[in-house]
Amino acid sequence: RFAADLDVLTFDHEHVPTAHLHALQAEEVVVRPGPHALPYATDKAVMRRGLRAAGIPLPRFAVIETPEELPEAVEAVGGWPVVLKTARGGYDGKGVWTAQGPDESADVFLARVPVVVEERVPFVRELAAVVARSPSGQAVSYPVVESVQRDGICVEVVAPAPGLSQETATVAQQLALEVAERVDVVGVLAVELFELADGRVLVNELAMRPHNSGHWSIDGAATSQFENHLRAVLDLPLGPPHAITPVTVMVNVLGGDLPELHSALRHVMARDPGVRVHLYGKTVRPGRKVGHVTVTGDDVDSLRSRAWHAADYISG
Ligand code: ADP
Repeated sequence: RFAADLDVLTFDHEHVPTAHLHALQAEEVVVRPGPHALPYATDKAVMRRGLRAAGIPLPRFAVIETPEELPEAVEAVGGWPVVLKTARGGYDGKGVWTAQGPDESADVFLARVPVVVEERVPFVRELAAVVARSPSGQAVSYPVVESVQRDGICVEVVAPAPGLSQETATVAQQLALEVAERVDVVGVLAVELFELADGRVLVNELAMRPHNSGHWSIDGAATSQFENHLRAVLDLPLGPPHAITPVTVMVNVLGGDLPELHSALRHVMARDPGVRVHLYGKTVRPGRKVGHVTVTGDDVDSLRSRAWHAADYISG
C-alpha cells in the first residue's frame, strides 16, 4: 500500500529483504537500487565472488560453509592470522573477528557460517571512494577520503585523503565507477578500500546508500551525497561532486554517558561557531552513531582538533 503511489522507491538502510523488493518490482514499482544489485552490499560472500570474477582487486579470501572447512581456507588465503567475517548481518565491526591462530577461531563465530575467511591486510590506511550513478548511466565521483576506524567503527573522515597521490586517487575513483557500473547500482555507492604501502588499493566493502564516508559532503561539497542519491534515483542530472573547501573533517558523535545531546550544543556552538553539528534524533546508546560534526578549512590538524573537541563534548 505504501508503494502504490510512489514514483520511485529507495532506502537508506541496506538490510531490506530482497524478496520484498522483487515483489514490489513485479507490481511495477520502480525500486532503485534494484534487488539484483543490493546483495553486493548485504552479503560479503556474494560481493567478493562477484567482484573477483570481474577482476576487481580484493584481499585474498575463501568462503566456508561449515566450521570444518577453516584449515583449508586459512591455507588458501596465505595462513594465520586471518580475519573472519559473517557473510550477512554485520555492521560497524560487529561480525568481524581477527584470529591469530586455530585456538582463537571462536566456535561461536564459526557457527555463524557462511563465513568469509580473509587474509589480514597490512594496510597503511583506509580510504573510501563514493560515487553516484543514475539509470541513464551518468555517474559522478566524489574526492577520495580517508576513513579512520576504531574497533571496527568509522570515527573520522578527512576529505580529501591527506597526501593521497593523484595516481592512487584516480585508480580508486575509477575502481568505484567500474564497480557501480558492473553491479548496476542506481544511487550512491561507497567503496571502502585498503591502501597498501606500494600505493595499490584493495576493495573491502560496498555500501549502496548515502554512507558515513560521504557525510562530509553535506557541508564540504558542491552537492551532498544525499541530494545526488535522490537525483540519481529520480534519473535527474547529477550535481557536481567537487569539494568547495580545501579540507573537510567529519567526526562521528558516538553515544556516551549523556542520554541527551542537545544541552551540549550551546557550549559547542559558542566555543566554535564554525563547527556544523548534525544530530540524528536517535536514542542514545553507548557506541551508537547518533550524529556527526563537520569543520571545513585549510589545516587538517586544527580542523581535526576542533571537530574532535566538539564531538567529544556532545557525547559527554
Ligand atoms: P563491517 O561490515 O562491520 O563494516 P568491515 O569488513 O568493513 O566490516 O570490517 C571492519 C573493519 O575491520 C575494517 O574497517 C578494517 O579496519 C578491519 N578489517 C576488515 N577486514 C580486514 C582485513 N582483511 N585485514 C585487516 N583489517 C581488516
